[in-house]
Amino acid sequence: MAKDYYEVLGVKKTATPDEMKKAYRKLAIQYHPDRNPDNKEAEEKFKELAKAYEVLSNPEKRARYDQFGPDAFTGTGNGTAGFGGGGFSAEDIFSQVFGGRGGGGFGFEDLFGGGSSRRRPAGGARDGNDLRYNMQIDFIDAVFGVDKEIAISKMNTCETCKGSGAEAGSKKSTCSQCQGRGQVVMQQGFFSVAQECPRCHATGQIIEKPCKKCHGEGQVKTDKKLKVHIPPGVDTGSRLRVSGEGEGGVRGGLPGDLYVVLRVREHELFKRQGNDIICDVPIPFNIATLGGKVDVPTVTGKATLRLKEGTQNNTTQRLPGKGMPSIRGGGRGDMYVNLVTEVPTSLSSEQQELLKKFAQGLSTKNEPKQNEFKRKAAQFLGSE
Ligand SMILES: [Zn+2]
Ligand SMILES: [Zn+2]
Repeated sequence: MAKDYYEVLGVKKTATPDEMKKAYRKLAIQYHPDRNPDNKEAEEKFKELAKAYEVLSNPEKRARYDQFGPDAFTGTGNGTAGFGGGGFSAEDIFSQVFGGRGGGGFGFEDLFGGGSSRRRPAGGARDGNDLRYNMQIDFIDAVFGVDKEIAISKMNTCETCKGSGAEAGSKKSTCSQCQGRGQVVMQQGFFSVAQECPRCHATGQIIEKPCKKCHGEGQVKTDKKLKVHIPPGVDTGSRLRVSGEGEGGVRGGLPGDLYVVLRVREHELFKRQGNDIICDVPIPFNIATLGGKVDVPTVTGKATLRLKEGTQNNTTQRLPGKGMPSIRGGGRGDMYVNLVTEVPTSLSSEQQELLKKFAQGLSTKNEPKQNEFKRKAAQFLGSE
């Protein structure tokens, strides 16, 4: 016979959702497996709590429970409401209620508001911190990719003691302050707060002869050179993970990762827009007028554009496949050349005379936009 869910949570049948949540939180912390390692009874209790809370916190399920009792949820009956069938685990429920970061990576320190966010397994093993390295690269390196050597200074696992912090052959004894638990409970006003044991630094053990190289820390400051491959197509804000190149773990903990965060320098010719490259190219007004060839730079070398007669200012031409490679693979962007007609300045008096003569011969056919605009403007001003 399954247990009564209200009894499991220690609440009345009339309990409000808030009261149930409070009750669940209190008991779930108490019976959490992290706090009760290798305690089967606590583990069972923890699962029972999650099951009870999962049902009673859902108004529909709670109504059915009130009608049919726990047998409606044992999963052996019609199977529709089974706890297991929903794909939830006791850890999932726990993380949901406590707002833990997804995927069960819930550290107990979070609940007590102190310490690191990582788990502290028994024996004081500690994973290395992740590191961030900011790197600036040139635009062209972002287009083609590049290998860079970087120098980092980090805390790495001590080679002499392999991160144990102990001299070879040195004995260890259980910490007397925390009795090997690695945590001590302090009274702060009304609250009991679990804190890292100051005597053994949460390891639960006292080392008789600490390693001379790292003074028992298990880590030493290390300078390291690393080759980092930057793939083609990266952009400002791209983050590359170099697995295992963060700080070293101690007492058997895993190394952290190194994150290289990129900033791509601006280029004096090219601008990036998604995977496309934009380039403003000034062209002489006579070529814009008569048509002709214009050389333009692309990231892979020179290209020649043919302009037709009467090419207008701000005309865009597309060069397919001359853009950025996609960082996810599969194709490149295009290049867009924006043709900007340059109006000549500082003309000699002879050039000015020639231009005036030229303008005298222009008709409305030569300048249809001006003609059209004049007509509309006159209409608007009411002087037609
Ligand atoms: Zn050492
Ligand atoms: Zn201790």
